[in-house]
Amino acid sequence: MKLVRFTLGENVRLGLVRGDEVVDLTSASEGHLPADMLTFLQHGESALEIARQLEQSAPADLALSEVQILAPVTNPSKVVAIGLNYMDHCREQKVDPPKAPLIFAKFPTAIIGPGETIRWDPALTSQVDFEAELAVVMGRTARHVSEAEALDYVAGYTICHDVSARDLQFGDGQWVRGKSLDTFCPLGPYLVTRDEIPDPHALAMRCTVNETVYQNSNTGEMIFRIPYLIAYISRAFTLLPGDIITTGTPDGVGVFRSPKIFLKDGDVVTIEIEGLGQLTNSCLEERRL
Ligand code: ZN
Repeated sequence: MKLVRFTLGENVRLGLVRGDEVVDLTSASEGHLPADMLTFLQHGESALEIARQLEQSAPADLALSEVQILAPVTNPSKVVAIGLNYMDHCREQKVDPPKAPLIFAKFPTAIIGPGETIRWDPALTSQVDFEAELAVVMGRTARHVSEAEALDYVAGYTICHDVSARDLQFGDGQWVRGKSLDTFCPLGPYLVTRDEIPDPHALAMRCTVNETVYQNSNTGEMIFRIPYLIAYISRAFTLLPGDIITTGTPDGVGVFRSPKIFLKDGDVVTIEIEGLGQLTNSCLEERRL
């Protein structure tokens, strides 16, 4: 299933995409399903089963083109990000692959949805870069989970654009500021449930800025794979339903090109991952000081 949050008039709704239409799950379930994705995920398998039945039985509802799709999750307890997790991304930097996952955080306040604008103050950063990533959405509370069981804890997958202010990221030593500016975590368009993606490590992925393809790789280049990451992370801290793990970016980012390129006012970035759709956001520089 392709689960979505969307707006219809003033209201934020939970739905699923069926062809070129959206089924409003809250109204189709006569209120049995919540309108909020986090609450839906917390209800676990029983809520998913109701949604699966409605995917088959609910009458035609809304045209996909008449609703606005939002980020699939907007208020997770955390966005856990993995650095240097693609072989081709290590090769382009001429660094050895890490011996253990490199973990950092993006604050949930950075999340925006498809079609929303990535904004930054040019007085704060002049090195805004793009990173296409496969993101895992957790479906169950995970603590001390084994690698063998890890995927049972995954609700599904979405696209994350790990927008990165390189001057802040590398200038600070800690990465969190450069990765967490407001609007620097576009997510979406769908939460594609795990059953639709039998192998998340064999998906073509692409990042296009305006008309130029800059990243063109495959999730098969991932060094630490999703079950390993969940086991590793859950040994350290608890993952909650709705938490996001964004699993790293392949080669082709702007900062490691020669000459370097960075995003600028008016640029349009589209990330595509096989089976997960497309995530497009435009860029706006706005001076605030
Ligand atoms: Zn990244």
